Amino acid sequence: MELGIHGERVKITAPQPPHRARLDELLPLIRAIDDAMIGRSAASEPISCKAGCSACCRAQPVPVTPPEANALRRLVSSLPEPRRSAVLARFKNAADRLHAAGLAEPFLTRDPAVSPEESVAIARKVYDLGLVCPFLDNDLCSIYAERPFVCRHYLVTTPASHCDDPFTNEVRRIPLPVTPAAAALAMTERKTRAPGYTVPLVIALEFAERHKSELERTYPSSEVAREWVAKMVSEDDD
Ligand code: SF4
Repeated sequence: MELGIHGERVKITAPQPPHRARLDELLPLIRAIDDAMIGRSAASEPISCKAGCSACCRAQPVPVTPPEANALRRLVSSLPEPRRSAVLARFKNAADRLHAAGLAEPFLTRDPAVSPEESVAIARKVYDLGLVCPFLDNDLCSIYAERPFVCRHYLVTTPASHCDDPFTNEVRRIPLPVTPAAAALAMTERKTRAPGYTVPLVIALEFAERHKSELERTYPSSEVAREWVAKMVSEDDD
């Protein structure tokens, strides 16, 4: 399929979603559009990120949207044994540490009164826990094709060493002309009763389990795809 995005014709190859689909079943299409736009933008400046550099996977909260959380829940439950148990054990270990630090509930039962400054302070505390992403294997992403939007968009142009402490060092990223995560949150709010905010990846499975009934609902896929794509390419979005 070919789409007009910001005045350019962009060719997209993606599997056709079912006639009625859950929001997470639209992710392959949205990722294909996102990847096409990332490919164009990434050619503009040298990027420091390389295979084996996993600083961002080792400490950052990795915020994921509700459809992505549900996709990860389904992905993990479909893994063959003993891989599934090993990944679940990593999730449990990291989530337990987040709960023990009192940092899981602010994400799971989001208080709308939390200010942007408080959000940054919470993110800093999560960072200080040094939670390693459960999908990181030998410094490589084991779900690369299905990694969250925030990972796809982490295209750093400052030295890779800056990512060891992004709260202290300047970490510059390539600006991208699409906002699939913000659009995913807007679609979640419009279509489901699940909360339209992101949660750290290590509690994504718990979040998706809590909101399973909302996140498993299906919608006419062509209508949802049209809305989602319109939102992600809107120049008014952040
Ligand atoms: S999903 Fe992959 S890229 Fe994202 S933090 Fe985890 S290991 Fe890193």
